[in-house]
Amino acid sequence: MMYHSTRGQAPELSFADVVLTGLARDGGLYLPKTWPTVDVQTLQHWKTLSYAELATEVLSLFVGDDISNAELAAICEDAYAQFTHPAVAPLVQLEPNLWVAEHFHGPTLAFKDFAMQALGRLFDHLLAKRGEHRVIVGATSGDTGSAAIEAVKGLEHVSLYMLHPAGRVSEVQRRQMTTVDAPNIHNIAVDGNFDDCQNLVKALFNDLDFRDKHGLSAVNSINWARVAAQVVYYFHAALQLGAPENPVSFSVPSGNFGNVFAGFVARKMGLPISQFVVGSNRNDILTRFFVSGEMVGEEVIPSLSPSMDIQISSNFERLLFETCGQDAEQVRGWMEGFKQNGRFAISPEQHQNLLTLFSAYRLSDAETIEEMKRIYDETGYVIDPHSAIGVMAARATRFDLDTPMIVLATAHPAKFPDAVEEAIGVRPSLPSRCQHIMNANEHLEPLAASEADLKGKIDQDRG
Ligand SMILES: *Cc1c(COP(=O)(O)O)cnc(C)c1O
Repeated sequence: MMYHSTRGQAPELSFADVVLTGLARDGGLYLPKTWPTVDVQTLQHWKTLSYAELATEVLSLFVGDDISNAELAAICEDAYAQFTHPAVAPLVQLEPNLWVAEHFHGPTLAFKDFAMQALGRLFDHLLAKRGEHRVIVGATSGDTGSAAIEAVKGLEHVSLYMLHPAGRVSEVQRRQMTTVDAPNIHNIAVDGNFDDCQNLVKALFNDLDFRDKHGLSAVNSINWARVAAQVVYYFHAALQLGAPENPVSFSVPSGNFGNVFAGFVARKMGLPISQFVVGSNRNDILTRFFVSGEMVGEEVIPSLSPSMDIQISSNFERLLFETCGQDAEQVRGWMEGFKQNGRFAISPEQHQNLLTLFSAYRLSDAETIEEMKRIYDETGYVIDPHSAIGVMAARATRFDLDTPMIVLATAHPAKFPDAVEEAIGVRPSLPSRCQHIMNANEHLEPLAASEADLKGKIDQDRG
């Protein structure tokens, strides 16, 4: 199993190298050269598996020979044992033929745990085998940081520098990161906004000497292993609700497009999926793209669903690559246009093709609150703002009512208590296993938004 870059100018790599490299050296994203496929008989068999067993089966198709099946099974068993619900990703029915897949029963209460718990263990395993050490640098506006820290804390072969904008993440999000006490974890509170953090990370990666000296790695959502691990729960949910005999549809509250792209991969592999609904908040670049066929960048405006406050969906490049028949030159042209002019357009035919599979819908903050309240009033179900966007987007744009619609619930309501309280008048409390963070000591290092300061710090720590 080999991987190639969406921009066609980086070396082809095996799974292990793709995981440890993150972003391709030509600026593109890695994808498998051929999609593995699964036949109906295999899907029938997969219905009988536990979540961890299913994860092993799905991931083994992407891993190739780089990790043995027994080793992969051990990684998956351990990763998904960290989830507190016995079903790992339970389904809850809200309406006739509409379900919520709860993806927030992991250690940090958001769906990012599904991929990070596997990715941290994959890193450690691969690096131990090679006798290498890596410095992971990342930027977070909230959920990615805590999921990554939780996944790699205490690991011998990785150090993690996680940058967050000082004073701009919620208290729960900050405490989930800073109360972890492990020598390999460095919480950097940057005097700036999320873009400043992301620009610092990019600057470090673009300094190839620095990148090679410390063996820099990335765990952001462009890392292929994160997408691959997320493919699993599409199979898990669909097989419970009628696949492979009958198709299902999914609705996904989206930001970087990593989560919904994983569903697209499951469909490529043979899972019958009729529709993907893409939900956005006021930062609706994806919704505007699906309506017009044109990608146009805009300013990010803060919303009640902060994990989707994104205007450049980094994983979208993977869908574009598939949309144009894996034409890397075409992708380079689009990306160059976006860099130069802040916009590019796909052809009308490509646009029409996408609309046979995707729909998109945006909600304002007021509409999000209204939907959270409606769901609570009609069903008693307490939902977080991101997931509520998924429910409303599905209700507004589903192609038909006969196909089961599965909305991915991406965060636990207690992660966004202010929005929930505003909507339903009840303040959700953190699950008891997480409550200790509200009193524990915090570990964080303030830093100016300066490339030299960040490099100096890593040089000093790592020698
Ligand atoms: C990260 C995140 C999203 C967006 O997921 P993408 O893969 O970036 O599209 C949505 N909701 C929550 C709660 C998140 O943490």
